[in-house]
Amino acid sequence: MGNRFQAQDVAKGARDRFAEGAQFIGGRLRAGTSERTHTVVDPATGDPVWTYAPAGEQDVDAAVAAAREALPGWAGATPGERSDALHRLAGVLAEQAGDLAAAESLQCGKPIRLTTEFDVPGTVDNTAFFAGAARHLEGKAAGEYSGDHTSYVRREPVGVVGSIAPWNYPLQMAAWKILPAIAAGNTIVLKPAEATPLTSLMFAQAAAEAGIPDGVVNIVNGLGVQAGERLVGHRDVAMTSFTGSTAVGKRVAEIATATVKRLHLELGGKAPFVVFDDADLEAAVHGAVAGALINTGQDCTAATRAYVQRPLYDAFVAGVADLMATVRLGDPFDPSTDLGPLISRTQRDRVAGFVDRARSYATVVTGGKAPQRDGAYYLPTLVTGAAQDSEIVQSELFGPVLVVLPFDSDDEGIALANDTPYGLAASAWSRDVYRAGRATREIKAGCVWVNDHIPIISEMPHGGYKASGFGKDMSAYSFEEYTQVKHVMYDNTAVARKDWHRTIFGDR
Ligand code: NAD
Repeated sequence: MGNRFQAQDVAKGARDRFAEGAQFIGGRLRAGTSERTHTVVDPATGDPVWTYAPAGEQDVDAAVAAAREALPGWAGATPGERSDALHRLAGVLAEQAGDLAAAESLQCGKPIRLTTEFDVPGTVDNTAFFAGAARHLEGKAAGEYSGDHTSYVRREPVGVVGSIAPWNYPLQMAAWKILPAIAAGNTIVLKPAEATPLTSLMFAQAAAEAGIPDGVVNIVNGLGVQAGERLVGHRDVAMTSFTGSTAVGKRVAEIATATVKRLHLELGGKAPFVVFDDADLEAAVHGAVAGALINTGQDCTAATRAYVQRPLYDAFVAGVADLMATVRLGDPFDPSTDLGPLISRTQRDRVAGFVDRARSYATVVTGGKAPQRDGAYYLPTLVTGAAQDSEIVQSELFGPVLVVLPFDSDDEGIALANDTPYGLAASAWSRDVYRAGRATREIKAGCVWVNDHIPIISEMPHGGYKASGFGKDMSAYSFEEYTQVKHVMYDNTAVARKDWHRTIFGDR
């Protein structure tokens, strides 16, 4: 019961903190003008947490105008000034770590251990990384390439960035979108997912507290079709950066393309987990269960399809089933909880639908149902015997479900790993460096782990191949998205009649 009191306190704190509204525009909070309401729900209980007025089109326009006004000043700040501001932001976020973790656990149903040890420290580290990286933006070349001119490359901000984020890691997604954009001198309007507005607002308030000027970071909390499409199509937005499902990403791409915007898409995943017959079985079993269940499986890189070479297959299936049975479902605010609820009952029912349909063509070894408790919980689930082209192997479920299938040759294991439309992440498990090395080269995904699955670090890029999208989050590679390069060329001859003018004037 103590844990529930904590959840109620956090909910009351959020209602008080955001009493003025869910839109953070030009440095202050205000209510949305959509004439609708949206209720944030605690996924662990189904209880309402906070009802807010979502952004209307007017609010999106106001946020873009604020970002546009702030742009010259922020783009004109020195890299050192932007870096200092981001260092201060890292400090403010670290001071508020407890509040951020609690709000993230409340709105997402994430276990407090996950938000305290992963979401929040990851966000602080990302902020510190981009504080440093802000001083290392560079053009790649400068020199006299024609002989008569000096050329160099300037790296410039793109302008006002419009970003859209999903609900599975709201705080980290806010950080991944906002930090590289503003480190490079852009200003931004971020639209978080409707269900999870709290920590993006807290992040923006922390930016203000750190002295980042008003209008540099704006948050519009609104519905996808209304606020999201307005933001993507806005003529004063120079770039769209979207993280979410492949289906919505296609719609976003259509609108962004029609208005000729730079586009960065981080979309769905269906990560394979390939276990060769010389792998450390215990490590692979632990890696598969942790990789499948992190964030209740609502992770775009979660291990979803384990392919296990025949000699290890039976022991792997038995090991995963045994280990899944030890995972403790519980209240997100209880530090002993391993697995929280899904984001909503709708999402839980969607996942259950996939598993229920699979019963006709596959075996549900363990789980496959909701436990007897309130909230959007679903038991850790292991499925075997599915055909490679079946729905449960090919589609993104976004729940605590692992499918395990056998393979014979290494060629077959790698081919199966590549056999979905997605290509976000994958892992290969082997003690043989040549086998693992081949998998890292031949699996088509933006990240391939060897003998692990899930860890991310600020210095390394995150992004997809194939239908998982294009462009990179985190790392210095993200600056390729959030900057444009300009060639500047100076004449060095100081003569009126240049050599190349012969093409126009001949010998005259
Ligand atoms: P979603 O696509 O339903 O929604 C994402 C965002 O898009 C939300 O903010 C939503 O309001 C907005 N949106 C919805 N319709 C829109 C429209 N017509 N125009 C503009 N915006 C619109 O995704 P979700 O359910 O919130 O998140 C889960 C998905 O996100 C999964 O597919 C997951 O794989 C993906 N994801 C990918 C990454 C990655 O890095 N590749 C990271 C996290 C999540």
